[in-house]
Amino acid sequence: MEKILEVKNLSVSFKTFFGEVEAVRDISFNVGKSETVAIVGESGCGKSVTANSIMQLLPMPPAFFKNGEIIFDGNNLLKKSDKEMQAIRGNEISMVFQDPMTSLNPTMKIGKQIVEGLVKHRKLSKEEARKKAIEMLNLVAVPQPEKRINQYPHEFSGGMRQRVMIALAMVSAPKLLIADEPTTALDVTVQAQILELMREIQQKLDMSIILITHDLGIVADMSDRVIVMYAGQIVEEGTTEEIFKNTKHPYTKKLLASVPRLDMSREEPLHSIEGTPPDLYIPPKGCSFYDRCDYALKVCKNHIPEFDNHSGTHQSRCWLNHPMAKVAEGSEA
Ligand code: SF4
Ligand code: MG
Repeated sequence: MEKILEVKNLSVSFKTFFGEVEAVRDISFNVGKSETVAIVGESGCGKSVTANSIMQLLPMPPAFFKNGEIIFDGNNLLKKSDKEMQAIRGNEISMVFQDPMTSLNPTMKIGKQIVEGLVKHRKLSKEEARKKAIEMLNLVAVPQPEKRINQYPHEFSGGMRQRVMIALAMVSAPKLLIADEPTTALDVTVQAQILELMREIQQKLDMSIILITHDLGIVADMSDRVIVMYAGQIVEEGTTEEIFKNTKHPYTKKLLASVPRLDMSREEPLHSIEGTPPDLYIPPKGCSFYDRCDYALKVCKNHIPEFDNHSGTHQSRCWLNHPMAKVAEGSEA
């Protein structure tokens, strides 16, 4: 598969008064053309930092790139100037957030916001852009677009604002869309409509999507592949089927067990994951999940687990059943 994005050995830290927080630690992954890759994990695991690193939207300082490359369409984004990044953002890569107000301008009619984007990115005349804006609002199923382009963001409901933001993100026909918890604030019905919409637009534009969410139902529904992050690291990666049906990492297992199922009886307890992730001021020497893992071995405490390949597409970072576990443990003696 042709790759649109390659993240290689990326490490991102934040300098704080109390020291350095290693928010993302040596992660590598690819996104293929037209592919949807989900990044999942608890809050604070580094999902959003990863997304914002690709877009270079992190405040620098306190954030800084310690290591790595982000290759988009053949170019390392970390070597781009602010000006070059500005041209890529909202053009070749777009982002949608949980809160549409972060990307909509509250003081500007939504039609004008879309028209300006179209004039800038697609070099349309104002007249053509206006027609296109109405077409795009139609595409994202905003009713009466001719009327609504003359309204301000606050005149829209939450779900409608989310649609407008998606329309705005599509203005440039981006090659990559990064969606960070795009539907978390919406009720389930609207959520399903918005996700369906993203999928339709993806097919029309042949676009790749990075979907960041903690909602595993959405992941199962939308994604081709899944990346599971824990404490700033990737702990498991595979096709959606491999992750759900052949789960390997103890953390992924717990994450899946914490999802409510439709066939669950009311008496059945919902498993939340006990304990808290480690403090990333002082990342653990061994496996980050050690304190919360039911399967922890002696080797796990002091040795960072290596990736174990289960198939060409499926790998997990865990010592359990790892062929090198004995060797690592022996090296301690
Ligand atoms: Fe658990 Fe050890 Fe695997 Fe970490 S490496 S997840 S502690 S078994
Ligand atoms: Mg987040």
